[in-house]
Order: sequence, then C-alpha cells, then structure tokens
Amino acid sequence: MTTQFGTTQTGTTQAADLLSRIQPAEGGREIFDPATGELVGITPQAGPEDLHAAVVRAKSAQPAWAALSSQERSQALHAAADAVEAHAEELAQLLSREQGKPLNGPNARFEVGACAAWLRTTADFQLDPEVLVDDESGRSVLHWRPLGVVGAIGPWNWPMMISVWQIAPSLRMGNTVVIKPSGYTPLSVLALTEVLNTALPADVLIAVPGRGDVGDQLSRHPDVAKIMFTGSTETGKKIIKAAADTVKRMTMELGGNDAGIVLDDADPQAIAGDLFWGAFINTGQTCAAMKRLYVPESLYDEVCDALLEVARSTPMGVGLDEENLLGPLQNRAQWEVVDRLVTAAKESGARVLIGGDPDRQAPGFFYPATLVADIDPQNPLVVEEQFGPVLPIVKYTDLDQAVEWANSLNEALGSSVWSSDPDRAEEVASRLVAGTTWINKHGAVDPRIPFGGARESGFGVEFGVEGLKEVCQPHVISR
Ligand code: NAD
Repeated sequence: MTTQFGTTQTGTTQAADLLSRIQPAEGGREIFDPATGELVGITPQAGPEDLHAAVVRAKSAQPAWAALSSQERSQALHAAADAVEAHAEELAQLLSREQGKPLNGPNARFEVGACAAWLRTTADFQLDPEVLVDDESGRSVLHWRPLGVVGAIGPWNWPMMISVWQIAPSLRMGNTVVIKPSGYTPLSVLALTEVLNTALPADVLIAVPGRGDVGDQLSRHPDVAKIMFTGSTETGKKIIKAAADTVKRMTMELGGNDAGIVLDDADPQAIAGDLFWGAFINTGQTCAAMKRLYVPESLYDEVCDALLEVARSTPMGVGLDEENLLGPLQNRAQWEVVDRLVTAAKESGARVLIGGDPDRQAPGFFYPATLVADIDPQNPLVVEEQFGPVLPIVKYTDLDQAVEWANSLNEALGSSVWSSDPDRAEEVASRLVAGTTWINKHGAVDPRIPFGGARESGFGVEFGVEGLKEVCQPHVISR
C-alpha cells in the first residue's frame, strides 16, 4: 500500500522539540505508547477555569477574525497547511507513538498529509451570498454569517485529521474555535494546534486538553454557539442534552456499523485488497470502516480465501517500524471490547479464519487481524460496533435479505456495494440507508464531498460547501 501524502525525512528529534513546547512545566498526566507501554509525554490537564478562560479569549478574538476578508482567511488556512507540511514528519512520529498507528500505509503520514489537504481544499471553497429573489416584488439575499465560537470535541482514532475537519470550515467562515481533544490522544492535537497557530492570529484556535467533564462544560457554555462533535453515539446523546439549554447548533458525527454487500457478479480476487482495507484501515478503528460483510453463497468461499490471503500478508507491529501497516488498539478498553466480541462469536460456533488468539502476555494492546466466517447475522460481533481489526463475514442466499440485514441497525453512517456491474451496484445502493454508500470501495472520504450519518450515526455534514454552511448562521436580508 502506498501513501498518497507520504513524507520521507526522519523526525524523531523534531518531535521531541514539538513535545517540549506543549508539555506543562509541572503537573499534568502521563501518556503511554499503546504499542510498547513506553512514556510518550506529559499532557497538561485543563480544569473548568481554563476552559472558561479559553472561551472568553476565543470570543474576544472572533470579531477581528470575522472582519478579515474571505481571501485573507483563505490565505491564513493555506499558511497553516504550509506549517503542517513543514512539520509533517515530527507530527507523524508523535501521532504514531501516541495513537499507535504505523507511519506507513493509510496511517500516520497519511493522516498528517490529509490535514494539509483538507486545510487547502477548505481554504479554496467560496460561499457567497445568494440572491434568492430579485424582481418587482423585491430583493432577498441569503448571507452566511459566522456563528461565533465553535466548540470542537474529538475522538482518539484519527485525532489530527478529525480536528482539522472541525477547525478548517469553522475558521474559513470567520468563527473562532475552542477544541477539546480526546483524553487518550491529547498530545497529537496539542502539537497540531501548536503548529497551526504559527500561521494563525492569537486566540483564533485554542486547544483545551481534558477529559469528558471538560467536553461537557464546553457543551453547556453560553458563549459557545455550536458544537462539532465526533465520537460515540452514547456521548453524542449526552452532548445533545447538555447543549439544549443554550440551543446550540450541532454537527454530530457518531458511531457507525457499516455494512458491505458483495453481489454475485463480483470478482473476489479483484476486490479483496479494497475490501480488506475498507475494513482494516487504521486497524479497524475508523468510524466509516466496513464492520460487517455480507457475501452471497455462490462466492462465499472465494471471498473468504481472497481476504485471508491479504490478512496473512499484512504486517502488524510497532508503529515506528517502517514495514508495519497495522498497529495496536489505542487503549485497553477498546481491546477489551474487541476481545469480548470475538470470544462471543467463537463461543457461538462461528469459524475463525485467521486471528482471534491474542498474545495476552505481550506488551501493547495488539489484537491480531481477525476474519470470522459462518457467523449468525444477529451475533453481537455483527450487530455491535467492534472498532478494531476484526471482520465478520455473513453468508446470504437472497439479496433482499442482505439489504434488510444491512438496514436493520440504529447506526447508518456508511455502506458499500461490490459488483462488476456499477449500474446494478447503484440500484442496490439506492436501497441502503446511510450517509454515504460507496461502490467497489469503502470509507473513501474526500474534502469536496459532504459526509455525515443517518439515524443514530448523527446529523449535519462535514466537507464541501455544504460543510461550510453548517458553521454559519443563514441570514436573509429582504427589501
Ligand atoms: P467517545 O464518545 O468516548 O469520546 C469522544 C470525545 O468526547 C472525547 O474527546 C471525550 O473526552 C469526549 N467526552 C466524553 N464524555 C463527554 C461528555 N459527557 N460531554 C462532552 N464530551 C465528552 O468516543 P471515542 O471512543 O473517542 O471515539 C470512538 C467513537 O467515535 C466510535 O463510536 C466511532 O464510530 C466514532 N467516530 C465517528 C466518526 C464520524 O465521523 N461519524 C469519526 C470518528 C469516530
């Protein structure tokens, strides 16, 4: 697998420099490498007064930022992308050590490259006022105003990239941002914001590291106009309730349990690589990864064999070792979710094709790439989000039944259909409930294309011009 956004220099020394700029002079909390258990660094820990002070500063910086021209803000985002590119290798090294993901493959270097790509693409979008009516009855123009301070709360799986997904559109449209990183991956987000801030005016972007209680306070703060949240559905529901009293705008990017459906005219050998990476990208810790696969009986053995070949040849290990493409789970709690679900699947009589036997004595939160065949469609490994390197493969004989299974859950983030006939695949795709349905690929997000969830996977979209509208107040002036 090659990376679209790869870099080549080594960055260990520079990563240490970056770390020294974000670590607290005293106090703080230790962060350990999920692959080795080694200390990565110390994160500052914000309290309620820090969060409040950050919101006050972001609020006071916002009018001047909004008063800049659209072109000036666009230039600032390009300068921020330049800064990310200048520090790409050190950011990737830190991300790899804190999150666990390997440097290569669709992992740490890819993620840092995506940060720059999303900043640039968002910088180049233009959202102009729209003349709605202009005739003898009058003239009405729709303007897109900034909301004020946007509160961003993110997860630990793609901590840098998802932060940029929240930061870039918000800043582009003249908002300022207070961002609360996941308690598992604060150093990555602090380092990223440190780099971005070398190109941005003071207080336009402020990171406040802390746990869920700081996120809760951000969700309730009266001077925060909008929450952009990416994380689990469970936490999303708490935030929706917490934000209700101040009628905040919200974008909710929540959990997913994406289905993939292989049609009976697919070519197993041709699709195996993309099927595998659709499920195992970031070691399965991806919102819109394929988390359950439905395969027709006529192709079942061939698809299982082809996936097995890819799984066998994909190296897993410590992220900083250049050859690895899969890493550990990021934290013990997630490892336990994966272990519980695979154990339940095995106990039900499902057939493990590979994996499913973690070394419980080895350091790090490694769980081997696992394929589970002949599994009941209602098994917990199928109907719960595993968020790890495990794919259940369900056999079907009736396509309508497979579509019904795919649509049967509360989560409906992404889905995919795999076929040698793209028109037939599109017809099946039109019957699926999801924010995005991909054909012959899965999880391929693009900064130009709106992305969001259906049902309990959330509401609102990110990316594209539609994503810019979500961080604005529509304001009609009519005369
Ligand atoms: P999580 O919900 O546990 O945590 C997300 C963030 O919310 C963290 O920063 C956490 O500190 C904060 N938080 C916790 N309690 C809070 C509260 N009461 N109020 C405010 N903030 C609070 O999620 P996670 O485990 O970090 O991420 C994994 C989940 O995220 C998976 O379900 C995955 O599918 C989902 N996800 C969704 C998308 C998407 O775009 N839809 C993208 C990535 C991840």
